[in-house]
Amino acid sequence: MKLNDYKFAGKKAIVRVDFNVPLDENGNITDDTRIRGALPTLRHILDEGGALIIMSHMGKPKGKVAAKYSLSQIKDAVSKALGVEVKFAPDCAKAQAEAAALKAGEVLMLENLRFYPEEEGKPVGIEKEDPAYEEAKKAMKASQKEFAKTLASYADCYVNDAFGTAHRKHASTAVIADYFTAENKMLGFLMEKEVQAVDNILNNIRRPFTAIMGGSKVSTKIGIIENLMDKVDNLILCGGMTYTFAKAQGGKIGNSICEDDKLDLALSIIEQAKAKGVNLVLGTDSVCGNRFANDADIQICPSNAIPEGWEGLDAGPDSRVAFAKAIEGAKTILWNGPAGVFEFDNFTAGSRAIAEAIAKATDNGAYSLIGGGDSVACINKFGLGDRVSYISTGGGALLEAIEGKVLPGVAAING
Ligand code: AMP
Repeated sequence: MKLNDYKFAGKKAIVRVDFNVPLDENGNITDDTRIRGALPTLRHILDEGGALIIMSHMGKPKGKVAAKYSLSQIKDAVSKALGVEVKFAPDCAKAQAEAAALKAGEVLMLENLRFYPEEEGKPVGIEKEDPAYEEAKKAMKASQKEFAKTLASYADCYVNDAFGTAHRKHASTAVIADYFTAENKMLGFLMEKEVQAVDNILNNIRRPFTAIMGGSKVSTKIGIIENLMDKVDNLILCGGMTYTFAKAQGGKIGNSICEDDKLDLALSIIEQAKAKGVNLVLGTDSVCGNRFANDADIQICPSNAIPEGWEGLDAGPDSRVAFAKAIEGAKTILWNGPAGVFEFDNFTAGSRAIAEAIAKATDNGAYSLIGGGDSVACINKFGLGDRVSYISTGGGALLEAIEGKVLPGVAAING
């Protein structure tokens, strides 16, 4: 079912959102992006005459009640954002009465789902090595189903708008969907947009397609790099990864970050790119510092000839030109991970060059998707967020989707 086609009038909808917002020590929200992200779905249901039951996790309370992770702290902020006074159910698994009393236009928010270990479905207090673990896991899976069934019993339909947790098979993100027919479960608007964005990158590609992967390590990106290798025309690998590739090819990298156990992997990526006709762009020069600090002394060096005592902290001028060239002519662009230690203002030039080239290409009609925490922070730091096609809200979920994995949260609804 599509959210836009569902008749919410007189119905209760239970909506999984991602309200795992950062709080300061006084419990004040420091970034409300996630609340704002869910508003179109929540408002639509209310405007159509439905009643809302909102559920979310917050933090990692590991199956126990913990005041610092209570969603009651954000009740007023959600009320303000929605323009409706939100009621609060202090026990998410015992909210039958509150849910039953809910009328059209009213909103009930459930307490943190992860106060119950059943939400995540992992047995607690028992190690994997314990001979009784398998039994405990089976028992937990059974009680997870009961927990999901209880949540489902509160409502007539289920909406999942929590892309950030779509890669988890939890009670509220996937298991609950078993208790609704296909006509009564749907993705929220945010989820629909995210799924569409991934589809544009993986299946609806307009060429040339340039992917830019940065960040600190090859090991955490390898699944994505390998999946993209069959799809892209240009693959820019930058950031800390540069030096694993430089060393693998016999270069000297000084103190630069490097994964010594991934040198063979780097060589095999170079070979794969050749075999598949992918234009692999690696930064040939680097902005190097004599220590890992913003005020380090700086010199530009070839990425494969970095002196002892120095480390590559950003892409050099030649690399930036090469990156921009591969980006500006593209019609589909994906960016994940910075090209340098962008947190230090003196080492942002590589990431800035990428962000600017993406903005320019997007102005010229390219489709650009930016995702995964740090690249989003980068594009916002440079004030270019509104000049790209789509900024994903999902870190791990986006990366798994781009790896080609099926997201349980999406599959539970779309099959
Ligand atoms: P990731 O979480 O793997 O996407 O990595 C993001 C982090 O990579 C950011 O915090 C950057 O500061 C860091 N990073 C990027 N380039 C370098 C580099 N040349 N040396 C060390 N860290 C880097």
